[in-house]
Amino acid sequence: MLVQTGSRASLRVRMLLRLAAVLAVLLGLDGVVSYLTALHFANLVYDRWLIDSTRSLAQAVRPEHGRIQFDVPRVALEIFQFDEVDETYFKVSSRGQGFIAGERALPDGAPIATGGLRLTYTSLNGERVRLVSTSLSPGSAGDPVTVSVAETLKKRSTLAEEILLGMAAPQTALLGIAALLAWLGVSRGLKPLTDLAAQIEARGQSNLAPVPLGGMPRETRVLAARINHLLGHLDRTLRAQKRFVADAAHQLRTPLAAVLLHAEAAERAPDMPGAREALRALHRSVERAARLSQQLLALARTDPEASLAMQMGPVDLVALARRTGEEWIPRALARDIDFGLVVPEEPVIVHGDERLLGELLSNLIDNALRYGNASGHVTVRVEAATRPALSVQDDGPGIPLQERAKIFERFYRLPGASGEGCGLGLAIVEEIANLHRCEVELTTGSDNRGSRFTVHFGSLT
Ligand code: ADP
Repeated sequence: MLVQTGSRASLRVRMLLRLAAVLAVLLGLDGVVSYLTALHFANLVYDRWLIDSTRSLAQAVRPEHGRIQFDVPRVALEIFQFDEVDETYFKVSSRGQGFIAGERALPDGAPIATGGLRLTYTSLNGERVRLVSTSLSPGSAGDPVTVSVAETLKKRSTLAEEILLGMAAPQTALLGIAALLAWLGVSRGLKPLTDLAAQIEARGQSNLAPVPLGGMPRETRVLAARINHLLGHLDRTLRAQKRFVADAAHQLRTPLAAVLLHAEAAERAPDMPGAREALRALHRSVERAARLSQQLLALARTDPEASLAMQMGPVDLVALARRTGEEWIPRALARDIDFGLVVPEEPVIVHGDERLLGELLSNLIDNALRYGNASGHVTVRVEAATRPALSVQDDGPGIPLQERAKIFERFYRLPGASGEGCGLGLAIVEEIANLHRCEVELTTGSDNRGSRFTVHFGSLT
């Protein structure tokens, strides 16, 4: 059995890729959140140092002779500003005196309430800095003094990068473990499907037995049930085809053997009249074989699979009865049969395949003319009641009650049936009726004589 394994692999890969994408997004989000949280706490630590420094410098501000003085030993300031990584600045200024000490370029920002504290980001010499400012009112001068301390952000971003790098390795390992678990999970999840595929792959081509459903999860059970349904259908179709071919071969054997026999007789005939007689018999056998093969083809056309090719549409039963009836007039004349047509004046429209319905009617008329009495009566009737009906009636010998069900079977003929039939006509009638969801009713004809075949259609359309 040829099975494409590529698609199975791609299903697994596709599922894994989707899972990996979701995992990557989740881990990415997790990384960003962890990084921001760590940065927040790092900022808290560095900010606390800046606040402490600001408050320490503020203590060195005092009034002297009505002026604000900032008095910190130079060495202390150098220690305060010493930092290997970042630049640290300070500025002392007052509203009245303006710049008092520190870095003049450090922005003052908006005024702060006395005793208040403000933390902001600003720029100094083109570089971003963290700025902490406080305001105080020393002595009785009433001139508010602002003390600010600023620091560049190198330490903070270095710490952020370290956090990021520190997290990258465990996050990658986590992604790897998650991918491995996803691989195992997907493989496990797909197992019922791969098992089913292996089961089907392992069986022989001719094995159409259903796949056992026991122990299967719901999803694959639906798939397996569908496969079983198709296998069952295939099995029935193959059996029907085998039976049909066997029947056809068996049935064709008789007329073909007769053809051979009569041909040999014609060859061996000592004189012309003898040869003519053999040729006439040969002609009859050929006719029989031709009719049989034509009926076999007709039956094949009514196969349920062939119903897909049906050309359904509105069909006027009155026109159909007229047209088909006309084709059989010569045969009726040959047997001196009174062949009549009783139809309403208005068209009677049904939904169907015109060619198949014509075939159905032809078979019924053929039987009536064949098995009805010579010089008898055959009537084709179309009725437009609530359910339209098409019937063919004869006044021949009729069909015994106990045979009525059997005559619709393939190749069945009444014991001692005359003529060259092969027992397929009524089987064809029934198949075509089934395709049209019609019922075929067989009753005794009027005056309790002969037979009447009536095809009842759904309803007037
Ligand atoms: P065939 O006509 O080829 O034998 P059919 O399936 O059409 O096959 O008919 C099956 C049998 O039913 C016929 O052989 C015949 O014995 C019987 N039968 C069919 N129609 C009639 C009829 N109108 N009157 C009497 N017997 C009939």
